Amino acid sequence: MLTVKDLKGIEGKKVLVRVDFNVPHKGSEISDDNRIRAAIPTIQELLNKGARVVLMSHLGKVDWKKLKKGEKTLEDIEGQMKKNDLAIAVEPLKARLKEALGREVKVSFCKSTKGAELKAAVAALEDGSVLLVQNTRYEAGEEKNDPELAKEWASLVDAFVMDAFGSAHRAHASTYGVPEILKGEGKPVAIGFLVEKEVSALSRCVEVKKEDRPYVAILGGLKVTDKIQVIDTLLKKCDYIIIGGAMAYTFRKVLGEKIGSSFLDESALDYAKKCLEEANGRIILPVDSVITDSFEPVEGRKVSVCDGDIPEGFEGVDIGPKSSKKFAEIISKAKMVFWNGPMGVFEQAEFQSGTKAVCEAIRDLKGKAFTVCGGGDSASAVKQFGYKADFSHVSTGGGASLEMIQNDGHLPGIDIIR
Ligand code: AMP
Repeated sequence: MLTVKDLKGIEGKKVLVRVDFNVPHKGSEISDDNRIRAAIPTIQELLNKGARVVLMSHLGKVDWKKLKKGEKTLEDIEGQMKKNDLAIAVEPLKARLKEALGREVKVSFCKSTKGAELKAAVAALEDGSVLLVQNTRYEAGEEKNDPELAKEWASLVDAFVMDAFGSAHRAHASTYGVPEILKGEGKPVAIGFLVEKEVSALSRCVEVKKEDRPYVAILGGLKVTDKIQVIDTLLKKCDYIIIGGAMAYTFRKVLGEKIGSSFLDESALDYAKKCLEEANGRIILPVDSVITDSFEPVEGRKVSVCDGDIPEGFEGVDIGPKSSKKFAEIISKAKMVFWNGPMGVFEQAEFQSGTKAVCEAIRDLKGKAFTVCGGGDSASAVKQFGYKADFSHVSTGGGASLEMIQNDGHLPGIDIIR
């Protein structure tokens, strides 16, 4: 697979880079520009080689079904995004990009996603300059991988670089259609530095080497059904799977334990039973829980620790101290760890201990094991609690990293570059 470093002879050439600038924002206030900063090394590499860089990204989601008949103009779409507080004036995005690239780089913006205006904006690019294109999702054909749209975008450029890991599990026009066409025309397609790092870390978690054993997976979060495929894959690869979070109660129910009013994924009971049988003791479950009589943080709610059976009227909202200790012991022997999903309702201060205990156990492995946090809520927790630097890799893509694990290292937006 070509990487952006391998691209040669691109001076004066137009290169489309699919980036992930889907930044958290409220109106035009960007609360975190990490995603913009994370794309800079790839953009800079191309600029240093004298390329003309066209950047495309999605930002939020247009609800096409909610637009009335005939309401498909840019103004209609922007109107809807504004109403849902998803619109972002492009100036702040462009300004942050310029700030991150340095003053000397010329950055322009095109408010059209296709047609003569976009064509003219790309044609006006100078060597070593950047054009940021309007939100790709302003085109209804983007998410459908519309061949006409992909053809038009591909016709604008001489090469393609995929650096949007968080969107690589989606075969959209900008992530799949464009590189597919360019590849067919014999033009160079490559991955950027960000995707290269993600692929290298997550591939190691699916192509397990002897020296990476014991390999321990830690899964948490809400629903078993959301993670069935990932559990299946990990059961084949891992030495142990630790299961915490709400997910654990579905497994504990199968074992005949009382779970009170804890979250139960009823439709996954048979699946959980099958997993426990197949795992032959390799699935490790919590032995105690932090329980409460009210999920909502109302004054006077009861919170306590409970071993084994959970009484009626109470629900488990975090793993208890004995479980934290048990999990930490298993983690301490690991040579490789993959973690996805919090151990409890980490959004509430009283139920963070289990998730923090896993962070600490992984921190203690620093320098001794390869440790990966698979994005999503667990990555937010890792950052919030200040453990990001203790991990070998914290993925930027929640959905993408899970799909990459469950599909044995494959994602459409990356396979098309291969
Ligand atoms: P997921 O998206 O499946 O990784 O789920 C993450 C969500 O699961 C977070 O919002 C957590 O608050 C929630 N969660 C984790 N453990 C529990 C629990 N024991 N009870 C209810 N929700 C939980």
